[in-house]
Amino acid sequence: MNDTDWKRKHLDSLREMEIEERRWRAAEQTLRRLIARLCAVAHGAAPELDARLAALADATRRDAEPDEMWELSERLTDTARMIPDTPPAPAPEGVAELDAHRFGELVLRLAERLSAALPGAETAALEPLRAALDGGAPATDLLVLLEAAVDGIAAHAAALNRERDVAAAILHQVEARLAEMTAYLAGAGTARREDHEATESFNVDVLTQVSRLSDEVRAGNDLDALRALVSGRLEAVGASLEAFRAREERRFHEQDGRDRQMRERIGELELQMHDLGRQLDAEKRRARIDPLTRVANRASFDERLAQELARVRRTGGPTVLLVWDVDRFKAVNDAHGHRAGDALLRTVAECLGRNRREVDFLGRYGGEEFVMLLTGSGLAEAHGVAESARGAVAALKMHFRGTPVAITISCGLTQLRPDDTAATAFERADAALYRAKQEGRDRCVAD
Ligand code: GH3
Ligand code: MG
Ligand code: MG
Repeated sequence: MNDTDWKRKHLDSLREMEIEERRWRAAEQTLRRLIARLCAVAHGAAPELDARLAALADATRRDAEPDEMWELSERLTDTARMIPDTPPAPAPEGVAELDAHRFGELVLRLAERLSAALPGAETAALEPLRAALDGGAPATDLLVLLEAAVDGIAAHAAALNRERDVAAAILHQVEARLAEMTAYLAGAGTARREDHEATESFNVDVLTQVSRLSDEVRAGNDLDALRALVSGRLEAVGASLEAFRAREERRFHEQDGRDRQMRERIGELELQMHDLGRQLDAEKRRARIDPLTRVANRASFDERLAQELARVRRTGGPTVLLVWDVDRFKAVNDAHGHRAGDALLRTVAECLGRNRREVDFLGRYGGEEFVMLLTGSGLAEAHGVAESARGAVAALKMHFRGTPVAITISCGLTQLRPDDTAATAFERADAALYRAKQEGRDRCVAD
């Protein structure tokens, strides 16, 4: 064996070790996250356990050393054993040794509890998990799917929270502005009352001056004295009038200022409401998008399929449903890691998106499955569209850390029928997809 052979062998084994290490690190991360979630779910079941669960969850978050994790889980097990009427916790044996079906059911129950805890959370996030469970998938696959389901539910919850925050902000703004308007109206009422009182007192003032003047005129006989009296009284009336006019003017300016301020406030409010409304719309759109691939999510697909079925029933116009599945995707995850699998899903989604018309619907159904709805196309035309999308994906030159990754996808197509339900249409397309897989993959099969 020469020098270069040794070097190559050495490099190959290094690369294998690197892949192996990544795989172990991914498995460890998965287990740590699962432990944290299990702790969260079990919290509150028994007060004696809560402190132990909190310590374990904390160690998981801190990425504590395995020895510490082991000791904490031992203590948790001991405490669980001491609780009356609680069956002893099974010794931690490792996921791979558990009965896959029982483990799967446990995982599904856990995910369902998580989803039930969130208002309006979609059960769609659990579908791939259910399907894998029915198909008897191994426990390690179920863990990956549980991760994806929990992430989906968490994303949904985050979207709901953001929507709720925006709505709360709108309410807060409206409340503040209403309070301002109420204060303004109360102020305007007081000003009107004050105006009224000022006019009254001015009238009384003038009337008093005039009546005194007429009394004095009647009583007086000296013309000069009378003239002095009249001019004195008239000056007093003039002063009252001037004071009244000045007060009126001040009031007018105050009122005018308040009106202008109010108009500005209302203008601002309109702008803010417009902005907040737009934010709320954006949040609603976000809640209908799959966070990983940025295409429509399962909830959007369900809605659109129902609309298309109603349209087919009403007008009889054709619509074709396409179900796509990435071929041998598990092998990509196994060889290059989950992160590479995720990047690949994004690339496939982009490619499918480029190869459709603006009116056609594209969504992620779950896992590595995508769906399309081609409106107004017959089966033959849709088959052509599907073939060109399939060809475009097969022609992608993907690399992961310098290693080429060949990828193909398969498709099942079916035309929607007036008597279809969403389930019957999907089942037909899925059966066609199954045939595409059986016949060798990288192909599109119509039912
Ligand atoms: P086939 O050609 O028969 O479809 O083979 P496959 O390996 O693609 O089929 P299988 O259904 O056995 O495997 C699908 C895998 O997809 C299993 C699961 O680990 C993985 N998976 C599901 N969702 C995700 C995800 O969001 N990201 C990643 N990276 N992997 C996922
Ligand atoms: Mg699949
Ligand atoms: Mg697949």
